Amino acid sequence: MKHSDSITTTARIREASHLLPGQATQDGAGVKLTRMLDSRLAELADPFLMLDEFRSDSGADYIGGFPAHPHRGFETITLMFAGRMRHRDNQGNEGDLGPGAVQWMTAARGIVHEEMPQQEDGLMWGYQLWLNLPAAMKMSEPGYQDIDATSIPEVRRADGSVIRVIAGERDGVRGAVRPRPTEPILLDVKLPAGVRFVHAVPAGHTVMVHGVSGELSVGERAQPLKARQLMLLGPGETLQVEAGNDDAQFLVIAGRPLREPIAHYGPFVMNTQEELRQAVHDFQNGRF
Ligand code: FE
Repeated sequence: MKHSDSITTTARIREASHLLPGQATQDGAGVKLTRMLDSRLAELADPFLMLDEFRSDSGADYIGGFPAHPHRGFETITLMFAGRMRHRDNQGNEGDLGPGAVQWMTAARGIVHEEMPQQEDGLMWGYQLWLNLPAAMKMSEPGYQDIDATSIPEVRRADGSVIRVIAGERDGVRGAVRPRPTEPILLDVKLPAGVRFVHAVPAGHTVMVHGVSGELSVGERAQPLKARQLMLLGPGETLQVEAGNDDAQFLVIAGRPLREPIAHYGPFVMNTQEELRQAVHDFQNGRF
């Protein structure tokens, strides 16, 4: 037996496994958005449950916002790229999310909040990602991290790439978000034309790449990824993404799968139907 094998083996590069084009839909009070990932794919994308992109310069598409609604059992992560959104909840927390800001909300045992646009027209562009919590933490205390744009560390590399480290680590720079149970990696990467981005990711993590702008190719097989597409990747230890003939931007979204049963009803994500019934009951009785 050659014990050196495991050391000398080069890291496998992750290749595309699923390409998701997104579905036009509406949520909240008539907000138009593109649902890149929905809960039907939650097993595949574990620990991620949903990814929405909202991107419109027409006020009519977003003005209704997301009036008061509950969440229980998971975390919501909002990334603002353009525009302003005000957030307010039933526990007295209030925040104003501007361009480049990130809100990391741990709904856990329950929160009721509203997310309302602070403009009547002009570009409103951002993302909301739902990240599951382990069973043991679904009923823990809710919490927030409102992170403004200037508090997100930015790594500028010699090749011209710029990496905003929201969660995880890059070149020794730690992300703005405190450690989470699913060990998420969330990077916002800008690449000049033709530049390659290589990033080590734990072998057990689920890894997705979302195209923001430009044209990208992923893995050694150079699978094309366009803006407004989400790609799920197969096994490996290394993520490799390359920009095409133009500058490009993408999000890296990765986390440790929970491999626990998922019971999902609207804004509640628990492990069993009984826990879902309890969530509805608790909400209706004002226990959030
Ligand atoms: Fe919400």
